[in-house]
Amino acid sequence: MRLFDSHCHIDFPQFDEDRAAMIGRMQETGLVGCVAVSVELEALPRLFRLAESEVNVWASVGIHPNHETRQEPTVDQLCELAQHSRCVAIGETGMDFFRHHVSPEVQEARFRTHIRAARELAKPVIVHMREADADTLRVLEEEGIAYVVAVACDTMVPAGAGRTIRADRLAAKVPGRGWQRMSCGPG
Ligand SMILES: [Zn+2]
Repeated sequence: MRLFDSHCHIDFPQFDEDRAAMIGRMQETGLVGCVAVSVELEALPRLFRLAESEVNVWASVGIHPNHETRQEPTVDQLCELAQHSRCVAIGETGMDFFRHHVSPEVQEARFRTHIRAARELAKPVIVHMREADADTLRVLEEEGIAYVVAVACDTMVPAGAGRTIRADRLAAKVPGRGWQRMSCGPG
């Protein structure tokens, strides 16, 4: 079976020691590629460098809903950053009421900015949804986005089953709109 991991964070510093070995093992396990998902714009240079140097690693552009940042991104800024040749998606973005580093209002505004950038670029959105299902779905519906994508959440235990059910539910929410569930993974 050929697998593609649409949501991982192998650019994080804690993987510096064994990242190369991990990427080496991908082929052996049938994993043909992965998206190293952005959580903060400050780390994009590191993320892009990894995606440039590894043929089976791609990148996204976005700020995690609960990442504290001095300046909120603009649609234009996200669109410009996403011009990078290895960027395949926008995110991760969404709503997360499990953590409380960023207010719900700011999260929602940030989520809409990401969705609008994705719409402009015709790229999929990587959605992070944790203890915020109703608001996440409401914003997605209000923004009328064409593609969802990969849903990441780890609210439920056992996480594996929970993720699948929740991602399916999200994908099923808007039949006929062309939403797609590509995969789901840990937040
Ligand atoms: Zn993530």
